[in-house]
Amino acid sequence: MTNRVALVTGGNGGIGTEICRQLAAAGYRVVTTCVDPDKEKIREWQAARKSEGYDIHWVQCDVSDFESCRQMAQKVEAEVGPVEILVNCAGITRDSFLHKMDKANWDAVIGVNLNSAFNVTRQFIQGMRERGFGRIVNISSINGQTGQFGQTNYSASKAGLHGFTMALAKESARKNITVNSIAPGYIETEMTAAIPEDVRNEIIKSLPSGRLGQPHDIARVVLFLVADDADYINGALIPVNGAQFCSF
Ligand code: NAD
Repeated sequence: MTNRVALVTGGNGGIGTEICRQLAAAGYRVVTTCVDPDKEKIREWQAARKSEGYDIHWVQCDVSDFESCRQMAQKVEAEVGPVEILVNCAGITRDSFLHKMDKANWDAVIGVNLNSAFNVTRQFIQGMRERGFGRIVNISSINGQTGQFGQTNYSASKAGLHGFTMALAKESARKNITVNSIAPGYIETEMTAAIPEDVRNEIIKSLPSGRLGQPHDIARVVLFLVADDADYINGALIPVNGAQFCSF
């Protein structure tokens, strides 16, 4: 068991909730961010986790806004402690073909999925370096590896996120900080529930496993990567896609 502090952005989403549960079950002191506490019913979410036996803190933060992240970091470190584990999980989609895409939808996706990696990680990286320990996991996507119709914004953001991972891993390796990406395939959450049913059914039929992945499939890889002794796994991208896309 460990009692290190773990911050999960978007920890109240489909994949994030399971990451929070598994981190808390392993003894980490877990904090999630949420953008709008009332809209996201974060107090009910927190109470539900409490009833499962997990004490999870929350702090308001828009990960696409640097100043909001600065204030969030101050609050977390004052109220819970120095962040040693960071999971950049918050993400959105705003799909359309490029020839129909608004600039607002480009900017929103790049802001939440990619600029967030700078906005959030920048708050904690110096402390990790000074303490000589850090574990950072960035939730990328299979669609960042392969590209996807209607997702030039999303695919660019997720491919960019892994570029960030590789560069920061090199900068940080001598300080016992690891930075890795996970590339989920299609996971059963609200994000995939938003795909039109006929399209989703076609996707499921085309998957080698014949089913969507589950949030716990991602959470178990996060737990593996953040372990104290996972210190030589650095700058990697771990696909979790049920053999949908295989590469070497
Ligand atoms: P979700 O929609 O259930 O959760 C997304 C989370 O991000 C929510 O908690 C939301 O509050 C948070 N968020 C959104 N905008 C934010 C902002 N501006 N500031 C702070 N938080 C914000 O989605 P999910 O399916 O759980 O996805 C989690 C991550 O996994 C995302 O990065 C997503 O791109 C990635 N992913 C998901 C799938 C999938 O099939 N579900 C596949 C590949 C990658």
